[in-house]
Amino acid sequence: MNTKELDTKYVLSTYARADVEFVSGKNARLKDAQEKEYIDFTSGIAVTSVGHANERLNNAICNQIQNMIHMSNLYYIAPQAKAAQKLVDASGYDMKCFFSNSGAEANEGAIKIARKHGERNGQVKKYKIITLDHSFHGRTITTVKATGQESMHNYFGPFPDGFVYAKDVDEIESLLDDHTVAVMLELVQGEGGVQPQDKAKIQNLAKLLKSRDVLLMIDEVQTGVYRTGKFLASNLYEIEPDVITLAKGVGGGVPVGVVMTSLKEIFNPGDHGSTFGGNNLSTTAICEVMDILGECDKSGDLEITMLLFEKALESFYNAHKDVFTEKVGLGMMCGLRVKDAETLGKIINSAREEGVIVLKAGKNTLRILPPLTITKEEIDEGFKYLSRAVSSL
Ligand SMILES: *Cc1c(COP(=O)(O)O)cnc(C)c1O
Repeated sequence: MNTKELDTKYVLSTYARADVEFVSGKNARLKDAQEKEYIDFTSGIAVTSVGHANERLNNAICNQIQNMIHMSNLYYIAPQAKAAQKLVDASGYDMKCFFSNSGAEANEGAIKIARKHGERNGQVKKYKIITLDHSFHGRTITTVKATGQESMHNYFGPFPDGFVYAKDVDEIESLLDDHTVAVMLELVQGEGGVQPQDKAKIQNLAKLLKSRDVLLMIDEVQTGVYRTGKFLASNLYEIEPDVITLAKGVGGGVPVGVVMTSLKEIFNPGDHGSTFGGNNLSTTAICEVMDILGECDKSGDLEITMLLFEKALESFYNAHKDVFTEKVGLGMMCGLRVKDAETLGKIINSAREEGVIVLKAGKNTLRILPPLTITKEEIDEGFKYLSRAVSSL
């Protein structure tokens, strides 16, 4: 049986897969099983932040696994301690880290921090967490309930209590009550349609929450790790959240999640944990990704790449205003609105046939999340193929 037949027979059907199997890559280039080449404008949904087959990352991982892939959190783990230092230093916040294996698990950690904080503070237990409509926070029972999309709450109830949805940032204030412990949101909703929040509104919200002793928890699973131009979107919005979660790009493809918090003494041994989280392999990957992207940032290369990408996207958008209604996003988290879902589906398929892969967000947004190390040649080639795809509609 070939891959497609094996998959159909043995793998549960949770994804509507496109009929292609990628087998290798180099930076933003991909090859499928038929040796056809593509430009990768998705980086595995913001995961391969330093590109495919990055030599430095691969060498760091290979060196580490010669010694050991995993030892348990019952003992000290050097790359974990170093990764935490690198993340905290880059953030500019006075925080500590906990390592998990995915974005959903990082958000579970954030929710546990909020619930424990609510337990300690005051006589009434504070437990309610406000999230936004169209948000996305993960697929576990709790994070799916934290996600403000009704369509994702089918089948799986009963859910944990205590999640309240605001239709937008403006509505949050009216939903605060004595039981509210935290607000959790994305500064650019990724799955929801690549819509950045307004900076002034977020800064006002941060002030309001501080004055009401409500935690601000920013889900940076997609926006984090230089995706928007700064290490964190929170840095760009110039706010000081109480809790930040990371995953996707921070391991460069190695599964990992991080929750960072300024509540540095919130947990005691036994309160939280993870068998795999923070192991030698995954935190070695974090250290190298942080070094590579930190250097890109310092040298100015990241800014140059972002400007090149923005310029290419802008001229692509201007050339195809008959198809795209709006350009949205921040940094290298980009979206182009299409008039309807059907057109979007056609563009994504036709783009793949032309040799560039792109993503969908929400109902009608074409989403582009290139590796942060994408070259000018790769950018130009990608938009050339995307133009062909759009013109052939
Ligand atoms: C992808 C994503 C998640 C979930 O991450 P997983 O690693 O799939 O669990 C959570 N929040 C946001 C904002 C995401 O983009």
